[in-house]
Amino acid sequence: MIKDGFGRIHDYLRISLTDACNFRCTYCMPDELMQFKPSAHLMQVEEIDAIAGMFVRMGVRKIRLTGGEPLVRKEAAEIIRVLSKYPAELTITTNGSRVHEFITSFKDAGIRSVNVSLDTLNHDKFLQVTRRPQFQQVWDNIQLLIREGFHVKVNAVMMKGMNDDEILDFVAWTKDQPVHIRFIEFMPFNGNHWENEKVVSYKQILETIAAEYDFVKLRDDANATAKKFKVYNHEGTFAIISTMSAPFCSTCNRMRLTADGKMKNCLFSKGEVDLLTAYRSGQDIMPLIEQCVIEKEESLGGQFTKDYEQIDADALTNRSMIRIGG
Ligand code: SAM
Ligand code: SF4
Repeated sequence: MIKDGFGRIHDYLRISLTDACNFRCTYCMPDELMQFKPSAHLMQVEEIDAIAGMFVRMGVRKIRLTGGEPLVRKEAAEIIRVLSKYPAELTITTNGSRVHEFITSFKDAGIRSVNVSLDTLNHDKFLQVTRRPQFQQVWDNIQLLIREGFHVKVNAVMMKGMNDDEILDFVAWTKDQPVHIRFIEFMPFNGNHWENEKVVSYKQILETIAAEYDFVKLRDDANATAKKFKVYNHEGTFAIISTMSAPFCSTCNRMRLTADGKMKNCLFSKGEVDLLTAYRSGQDIMPLIEQCVIEKEESLGGQFTKDYEQIDADALTNRSMIRIGG
């Protein structure tokens, strides 16, 4: 069992398969011409397998594949297959553009739940946010996942003046489809032009929805990052991930592995532990994993106060989101 200095048990590992992506979301990959890591610098399939296996032996019960876009990694199907042998729930977060090529892989690996990112229901705005004209492909793939019986969560990063006028449209979508919308507060990362005025807070989102709908609070899963709600008689649900205005660090159980094999004990941690180099040199990585978690800060990587309005984004030390693995 992996425990941090505050007694939090860590049993959830997010593995980034690549820092590359076929989209260029402004809040995630600020630089259109970003250089991706050469493949030799990434964990190879056998290394992902071995390192993930070590985490599972240490108590990890859930693994999420992410990136960059995990499904642009050329060995994605193989990695999904290899990891499916572990007694851990396997899930994935994707931009949805290539999901149609992986339905069989998902099913064979026992993946039941898929998170797809979609920040807007409008074609033009989609192009503005992602800088790629693939709204229709993503929409069709969400429909495909629903038809195929997957539990589909839709991640929408809310940004003032960009898509906050669509909050009610997203909630309306849950009326006739079993889709689970997750409004995410905009977070600061290296180079993503974050400003506190651009954050649409938990409170603002809830007030907007309350002006139009009657809804109930649902019970949140243990260690949940999202606060879940349901409009009466709607098939789907909505939730809010309030990292900025109401962080949920006290129940955090998450660890991250970047595509180049660095372990982060928090999305906002300054430090990283180089598990891949240690593994390649034949070192036992278990003590490194334990040490990394022991050093975890109580909240938000120790980098900012709980009052997001006071944050100086330029003072943060971190990677960009795409290089961490969201
Ligand atoms: N490419 C995949 C995708 O888009 O779902 C997986 C990687 S992406 C980094 C994972 C999640 O992080 C996405 O839902 C994305 O919207 C979210 N994300 C990226 N940058 C963010 C930011 N600055 N604030 C909040 N969420 C962010
Ligand atoms: Fe790519 Fe996902 Fe980042 Fe968008 S949010 S640039 S799809 S990794």
